[in-house]
Amino acid sequence: MTKQRRMIREIIDSADGHPTAEEIFVAARKRIPNIARGTVYRNLAIMEEEGEVGKVVFPSAPARYDKTGIRHGHLVCGKCGRMTDLPSDGLTDYLKDVTEGPVLDYRLTVYTVCEKCRKKSDG
Ligand SMILES: [Zn+2]
Ligand SMILES: [Zn+2]
Repeated sequence: MTKQRRMIREIIDSADGHPTAEEIFVAARKRIPNIARGTVYRNLAIMEEEGEVGKVVFPSAPARYDKTGIRHGHLVCGKCGRMTDLPSDGLTDYLKDVTEGPVLDYRLTVYTVCEKCRKKSDG
């Protein structure tokens, strides 16, 4: 594993939630000031291909990276955009039940209002 790749891994692991490629690049530049954007993006693509990290794609927002390549759903706050993992316990079993076949892949994003934003609107 290259030094850059190990560093990107560390950035994703220590990130709060799901960073975008650009956020990962900004964090990487703090450690290696002359690192190229292309290096970060290329490494992310390889890591995703190898299943080391996950990539969550949105129709109208930049993709976000995930600590794990293991499929799971997400909760996204419709107000602040905060994204958290949806516990997948039971979900895969449920999907297997309803599809009556192998579950090859799924992408599940549930839009909600996070606790912070709920508290804010309560006053
Ligand atoms: Zn929120
Ligand atoms: Zn996730």
